[in-house]
Amino acid sequence: MHSPSIDPSTPSPSATRAAALTRDWICPFCPLLCDDLAAAAHDDGTLDVPDTECSRLAHALTQYGATDVQCACTVDGNEADKDAALASAAQLLANARRPLFGGLATDVAGIRALYPLAAACGAILDHLHGDALTPATLALQDRGSFFTTLSEVRARADLLVFFGCQPSRRYPRFFTRALAGTELARELVFVGCEADPAAASFAQTRIDTLLPDTDPYDTLALWSALAEGRDAAALSHGDGSAANVASALASLHARIAGARYTVVVYEPAALPAPHAALLIEALNRIVKAVNRTTRAACLALGGDDGALTVNQTVTWLSGLPLRTRVSMPAHAAGGAPLDHDPYRYRTARLLAEREVDALLWIAGFAPHAWPASLDPALALIVLGHPALADAARARGANTVFVPVATPGVDSGGHLFRIDGTVVMPLTAARGAALESVASIAAKLSGRLSGQLSERSSTREDQP
Ligand code: SF4
Repeated sequence: MHSPSIDPSTPSPSATRAAALTRDWICPFCPLLCDDLAAAAHDDGTLDVPDTECSRLAHALTQYGATDVQCACTVDGNEADKDAALASAAQLLANARRPLFGGLATDVAGIRALYPLAAACGAILDHLHGDALTPATLALQDRGSFFTTLSEVRARADLLVFFGCQPSRRYPRFFTRALAGTELARELVFVGCEADPAAASFAQTRIDTLLPDTDPYDTLALWSALAEGRDAAALSHGDGSAANVASALASLHARIAGARYTVVVYEPAALPAPHAALLIEALNRIVKAVNRTTRAACLALGGDDGALTVNQTVTWLSGLPLRTRVSMPAHAAGGAPLDHDPYRYRTARLLAEREVDALLWIAGFAPHAWPASLDPALALIVLGHPALADAARARGANTVFVPVATPGVDSGGHLFRIDGTVVMPLTAARGAALESVASIAAKLSGRLSGQLSERSSTREDQP
């Protein structure tokens, strides 16, 4: 951990209009949380990271500008002050019988403040990337996993097997973070996909591609059997193409057996839905089998927009991962105060089946809009990136919008890194006067409890 420094007098190397340069800035725009950057905040409200080679970061920074700080709250399509917007939002939540808190693109403090609010109104919690997150959770619950960290990969992994993924497509600086500046000779094997072009420029690495067009389920069925000691020739049953696949996997397995430390890298979001959990489970089983004789582990790349952070935080608060309904016992009305269901509590299904009557949508890192399938008659409260203001205004009735700070841009915060073991402290590079999700959620909790107790005392007073 380190303390970023903010130097108000240092101009950006690429521009003299910089108002402040934050050194050792931690980028919040993907879970790699790169911490070797310097962010320049300009007088006109724009931000840049001079000389960045990361396309994802460069794109994210284009979403910030001069008008963010003037971004107003709206209620039913009309501009409103924050007090009025929070009062309307609290009213919508008090009226809802079964709200959904979706998107959930926030940091540790944000979800910690949203959790009691969810409990007060009996809300279901799901994330924008719930479909990618859930298969990994299911596989972990069913069979457990061997996982590793970025530091272990850098220091020890002499064989990296990428299963069906090219990491730089979603995580542009993955190879820089994992390989750059190390002396270790490594083999990189891409299984079920073409090699990632971003891997090519590193010294001491040998890159191979294996079975790029083979069905991932067939590959893992054969690889699992080989890992358990079955004979490659017997597995192919005389079928020529199966024999080729089995022989390629047998040679991969021999390389794994001869390596000091193999890391199998996969991306849950890149695996074919809807049964990605079976593939993740198979990868974990293979790694477990390898550990009988040598060392190996998995590294899952995912958890974007705070998904990993929110899942970890909800798990430590409730004992259950996302896709859980949380209720105060009084609100549960005879039901369980906590109910986890990875299938039933999927955002798309809940909206399609009209099982929820209000949506609180949190989008703090990017202007991710609420699902297009949302019924216009359903109450919507958006705690979102200022760039969502126009869409919220255009929705008109049944809509409250409150702009929020992005952690790492306009507020501090904490996020879990992609390997799930390190919590990184974020520093605001710009610091525009936008309120954090945590602060707004705490205010909403106060207002909601006031409205609910007023309602219950009115009921008690009735003859
Ligand atoms: S790879 Fe991710 S964390 Fe690193 S600079 Fe790019 S977007 Fe930011």
